[in-house]
Amino acid sequence: MSIMDLKDIVKELKEYEGDEVRLMEVCGTHTAAISENGIPSMLSPHIKLISGPGCPVCVTVTAVIDRLVELSLLPGTTVLTFGDLIRVKGSKMSLADAKAEGASVKMVYSPMESIKLAKENPDQNYVFAAIGFETTTPVYALLIEEAKKEGLKNLKLLTSLKTMPEVIRWVIKNGGGIDGFIAPGHVSAVTGGELFKELADELGIPFVVSGFEGKELIFTIYSLVKMKGKAGYKNLYKSVVTKEGNLKAKELVDKYFEVSDASWRGMGRIPGSGMVLRKEYRDFDAGSIGLDEDHMPAGCCCDKVLVGKLQPNQCPLFGKSCTPDNAHGACMVSTEGSCYNYFISGRR
Ligand code: SF4
Repeated sequence: MSIMDLKDIVKELKEYEGDEVRLMEVCGTHTAAISENGIPSMLSPHIKLISGPGCPVCVTVTAVIDRLVELSLLPGTTVLTFGDLIRVKGSKMSLADAKAEGASVKMVYSPMESIKLAKENPDQNYVFAAIGFETTTPVYALLIEEAKKEGLKNLKLLTSLKTMPEVIRWVIKNGGGIDGFIAPGHVSAVTGGELFKELADELGIPFVVSGFEGKELIFTIYSLVKMKGKAGYKNLYKSVVTKEGNLKAKELVDKYFEVSDASWRGMGRIPGSGMVLRKEYRDFDAGSIGLDEDHMPAGCCCDKVLVGKLQPNQCPLFGKSCTPDNAHGACMVSTEGSCYNYFISGRR
């Protein structure tokens, strides 16, 4: 695409006056990249971008946070977690609140750090808060592989792992009217693009796999606007995404995990939309099965935001009592959350 092409495309998207087009991204990194690149301001008001259930922290139900809090308060147990999750409220408190009350909670940057900690501190039990999508599940599989190799008995996972296809079907059936999907770049790199081609054929709407640069997203949006109203698939991230995906990663995941039902914030339990450790590896599980309950903070509309029924700035608390410094719900806590990104990009 030449610079001239890009300019023409941006002009056409800004001046678009056709029927409304509602496009959903289902990847937290896309949500953040769309904000960082100021993409909404480049589009006609007839083109709506909606952040779907692609931010792992945002879709995690309170029962999972509650279980992590409970574990962190046990003597001799440390909960290891990524940064954003620590601030999300459970039904009573967040992991950060628990830490302030003396619980053992440690932030890590990679799940593999937990191997080192468990080896160096054999008398301490560690629980890793293993949330995420198809992209992160291979890392958790690798973690179990390493823990097994090292004979570690003091490291477990509390899993809340989700997969894309079933939740996309759910959103199309129950959500706020979506005309096309910006297919997730990182997830597609693992699953392969073929999965989204099949979904496009089945659901009769377009899917375009996108990279994360501003111009890649613009070209993706342009393609989706042109493809509106019919099934279609394009892979605009061919440098990373192949038809069949990362076979090694898929094999590793299949060795340790099996398909399960999963509970999603705002959507409830969706059959076949998650992964849990296989029965033979459940010694590494810290009680992940059956964590379904979800009690959102009073007044929070994250449930409707996540499925495109409300835009973040339509929540009565947005920018008032709920801001990134005083986040009420998970969608404002996470840097990949739709409310957070709406707020920091000034969309009021
Ligand atoms: Fe929830 Fe805050 Fe978003 Fe409203 S603005 S939906 S309270 S996270």
